[in-house]
Amino acid sequence: MNINSKQHQPDIIIIGAGIIGLSIAYHILEVDPKLSITILEKEKVLGVGSTGKGTGSIRYQFISPIHRQLSLLGRDFFVNFESAFNTPIWYLEKGSLLLAVNEGLWNQLQLTTEQAVAESIPMKLLDREELIRNYPYLDGDRFLGGTLCPWDAYADPYAVLAELYAAVRRRGVNVYFGQEVTKIILEGDKAQGVETSQETIWSPLIVNAAGPYAAQSAAMAGITIPVQPFRRQVYVCTNPKDVPKANPLIIDLASGFYMHQEANGKTVLLGGTDKDTWPGFEELVDKSLAEDFFLTAIEAIPSAIDVKWLRTYTGICEQTPDFHPIIGEAPGLKGFFLANGFSGHGFMHAPAAGRIVADLILNGKTELIDINLFHPDRFTVRNN
Ligand SMILES: Cc1cc2nc3c(=O)[nH]c(=O)nc-3n(C[C@H](O)[C@H](O)[C@H](O)COP(=O)(O)OP(=O)(O)OC[C@H]3O[C@@H](n4cnc5c(N)ncnc54)[C@H](O)[C@@H]3O)c2cc1C
Repeated sequence: MNINSKQHQPDIIIIGAGIIGLSIAYHILEVDPKLSITILEKEKVLGVGSTGKGTGSIRYQFISPIHRQLSLLGRDFFVNFESAFNTPIWYLEKGSLLLAVNEGLWNQLQLTTEQAVAESIPMKLLDREELIRNYPYLDGDRFLGGTLCPWDAYADPYAVLAELYAAVRRRGVNVYFGQEVTKIILEGDKAQGVETSQETIWSPLIVNAAGPYAAQSAAMAGITIPVQPFRRQVYVCTNPKDVPKANPLIIDLASGFYMHQEANGKTVLLGGTDKDTWPGFEELVDKSLAEDFFLTAIEAIPSAIDVKWLRTYTGICEQTPDFHPIIGEAPGLKGFFLANGFSGHGFMHAPAAGRIVADLILNGKTELIDINLFHPDRFTVRNN
């Protein structure tokens, strides 16, 4: 679609129509429905970025208190989504299990449980006996214990994305597909607009929600942010025969291995061990990793030896060095906001990001969370 730039001067431009960009638009309009918002998306269709590749897990169990706070800020959004939007997202609170293989991790889980319970998160410790009694398919010799949180849930990322897209369109947001932002227009220390592959669009407020491409978009404004893209490989397999339906998400903290059972109870998504890959946008499946991967899977769930490997896909995750996102106005550049680097948790933390950025843009501050924790200042360098 062609935009007439002379007539088209939205209050806010958002770069990227992933879950973060759409959540920000949605939450801004919840507060001020009169604002005009334009979202620019380089791909031709919705859901081609990270969001469409996500596993859909929503977790409250995190060792990092910051991650727990972000999850809590989004809880109502997910719990009430189906009734509020009258659309299915296959939301299911099936819980998740974090598993410890050594004393160090077990002690960490004990401390995390204490903190989480104090924050009203119903996280529960399970010693080895309880773990194996309740989840007999786990390797009883490997795990010292684990934790369970019944709030931890699943929702279909594409279903949430599609409904948010419909919701913001209903509220008058223009979403232009096939429009790559190629330049941020600056005047002194202020953002003034963008150039896309087709047009120039003027606006004093620009939000960088470009997912794995966040560093590239920030660089157009002379801002350096350490958000790097990492390939993540997901193995789609038949359900291990002794794992019951509606089983919690399993995470082996030592190896990173996870098993997410799909809603049908017949297939599982396995992954999580490829933490040491190099940054890059290469999405090709690397089958040479499979042998080591399945050996790790079998260490946690011995019956995984019999699963049928159906297919493999990859997605790109955007990551910061401390695994916490960067949220806020870029230092030294008025009107350029960053909502980037969600480090594998951008789906579950999208409602929080939307609320926080809406607050920062509309009120100049937020009481929702200590924003200093996410301040771009902790990494950014202004180049010019
Ligand atoms: C395999 C995998 C599993 C995951 N599992 C989970 C999970 O279980 N739970 C969870 O919470 N998170 C999960 N994640 C992470 C989550 O998917 C991401 O953190 C989240 O989708 C990021 O959303 P986003 O909107 O920032 O990025 P994206 O969805 O990638 O959206 C950014 C958009 O910006 C567009 N864009 C980029 N540059 C430009 C430009 N210059 N001009 C215009 N448009 C541009 C892109 O095309 C893209 O559509 C997973 C990720 C992967 C890869």
